[in-house]
Amino acid sequence: MLDAYPAGVQFSTYPCPCGFYGDSRKECRCTPRQIQNYIGKISGPLLDRIDIHIDVPAIAYKELSSKSEGTSSGQMKQSVIKARRIQAERFKTEKILAPLEIGRPKGTTYL
Ligand SMILES: [Zn+2]
Repeated sequence: MLDAYPAGVQFSTYPCPCGFYGDSRKECRCTPRQIQNYIGKISGPLLDRIDIHIDVPAIAYKELSSKSEGTSSGQMKQSVIKARRIQAERFKTEKILAPLEIGRPKGTTYL
């Protein structure tokens, strides 16, 4: 029942018990079996309901705590507005704004 999980729900997990698998800054010391068991704890039906899986590398504390400006909320808002305009133009004949609204008849893809 996909409808039981609203859009926008995010799940996050470490990639392995120690949390450093794939991290370029520190070596993971977990065995492949430990990693497999760790990942295996996440329910298959739950994973099936997640549309996008993204590996996000850890960010060093120094980088996180730096005073650099980065992207402001206003700039981010403008990017979202622009993306929604593109999406509205793309699906203007079907009146679809969000990916969740896209029906997926077999054999049909939207690119
Ligand atoms: Zn590890």
